[in-house]
Amino acid sequence: MRIPHLINGQTVAGREHFQSLNPANQQQLAEVAAGSAEEVNLAVAAAKSAFPAWAGTPPAQRARIMHRLGELITRDQAELARIETADCGQAIAQTGANLVPRAADSFHHYAELCTRMDGQTHPTPTHLNYTLLQPVGVCALVAPWNVPLLTASAKVAPCLAFGNTAVLKPSELSPMTAARLGQLALEAGVPPGVLNIVQGNGREAGAPLVAHPDVRLVSFTGSTATGNAIVRNAGLKKYSMELGGKSPFIVFEDADFERALDAALVMIFSINGERCTAGSRILVQQSIFDEFARRFVERAKRIAVGDPMDPATVIGPMVSQGHLARVRGYIELGLQEGATLLCGGVQRPDYAPEVAAAVRDGNFVWPTVFADVRPDMRIMREEIFGPVACLLPFRDEADAIALANDSPYGLASYVWSENAGRAHRVAAALEAGVCYVNSQSARDPRPPFGGVKASGLGRDGGHWSLQTYTEPKNISISYGQHAIPRWGL
Ligand code: NAD
Repeated sequence: MRIPHLINGQTVAGREHFQSLNPANQQQLAEVAAGSAEEVNLAVAAAKSAFPAWAGTPPAQRARIMHRLGELITRDQAELARIETADCGQAIAQTGANLVPRAADSFHHYAELCTRMDGQTHPTPTHLNYTLLQPVGVCALVAPWNVPLLTASAKVAPCLAFGNTAVLKPSELSPMTAARLGQLALEAGVPPGVLNIVQGNGREAGAPLVAHPDVRLVSFTGSTATGNAIVRNAGLKKYSMELGGKSPFIVFEDADFERALDAALVMIFSINGERCTAGSRILVQQSIFDEFARRFVERAKRIAVGDPMDPATVIGPMVSQGHLARVRGYIELGLQEGATLLCGGVQRPDYAPEVAAAVRDGNFVWPTVFADVRPDMRIMREEIFGPVACLLPFRDEADAIALANDSPYGLASYVWSENAGRAHRVAAALEAGVCYVNSQSARDPRPPFGGVKASGLGRDGGHWSLQTYTEPKNISISYGQHAIPRWGL
């Protein structure tokens, strides 16, 4: 199978190709067009010429098309989940039941929101100021390889619904569901040129796209290092940056122990640990630390690792051999730094059953838990982006807050306590864009989502996405009688 670009409503064959591999068995899934500045220029030109008509399309009509696209994702949900799982290795139980359906939800949500956009009025005795929320123009949407359909949809849906046109560049490591999204968009009635997709890697396709002078907005989800490189490369533009994380998961002694344990396991081992909101620094109050660590490890050892197409699997293969080497490298580093390995490790541990023969060559990492970590260790400070947890005890509330905030990142945070006052105090004190109290990450499309510090810039979700994908313009109209200096009479 070959995956082309999508430019101006047409498939455009690649001049060169790269392979998309199934991380469960290293077999080729597709040859994917490798874009460069040439395809980027064509795609941006198509988006630019489609912009005036799409921006001028009545919101109710744009909404109908967005709803239709959501319905088509739901129609093809099972197929999309299979493609996503084959392409990025995340377990079918999670792509099918959660990640793909949420992609459809994005389109329905922004379909409704775009019909309810309103500005503000600021009257004075002499003037009426009113605000128009206008689309920004051509947007570069750059997506990461983890949860590829959901992150692409979380960008495409508000971008298009609010009247912009787009060039989407999926990750070279998981390009397949974005390609399907492009086809479904055409089927839903998105006009040619409104959504263009240029496949390829960051250097050849991503960099010329974000730097293109006709691109007004860069909406990027990916690593902090790439986010910084983009800002340096692309210069003054509007930016939305959803970057990395190293999120604290704080369990106080007065927490509901069993629910906290369930959620801690989910937040580091779901989506293969390849999630920006992973609760990778698990901070547990001293009095319950030993019991929590014992129970956490006992259950981590029983988590099913293997064929991501098996509905019983929880953790599938890491997305690529390069990423596998990176995650294993961090496990080795943790040992060198003096942390204690409680379970998991670089290879399949003895207690874990073998994976099925068909996926023997998969990029597997077994749930790995470190204790005796110090806040200055690199495994505590850097984003590993795999199923690797660090457990650390804390003394009291102040200690928990200090440890949690001792991080370059500030995306998600989690607080577990049955003491309502404490939960509110700690949630307010944490340096993070999002805080879940007595919960795993439970996303709703309306509240703001994004990070502080090295985790990003701007917020997505509901009305917050309006700030990203529209430009507020103030129009100031005189009632015709205010004083104007009459110079030079
Ligand atoms: P990455 O930074 O390596 O790549 C992301 C995208 O940027 C890819 O499409 C890549 O091709 C492109 N790219 C690379 N170099 C580029 C350049 N110079 N110019 C333009 N584009 C370029 O990230 P990744 O490894 O694909 O994704 C994992 C990272 O994404 C993790 O750090 C994770 O935390 C983060 N992430 C954040 C969120 C969030 O909402 N905050 C969500 C998902 C993932």
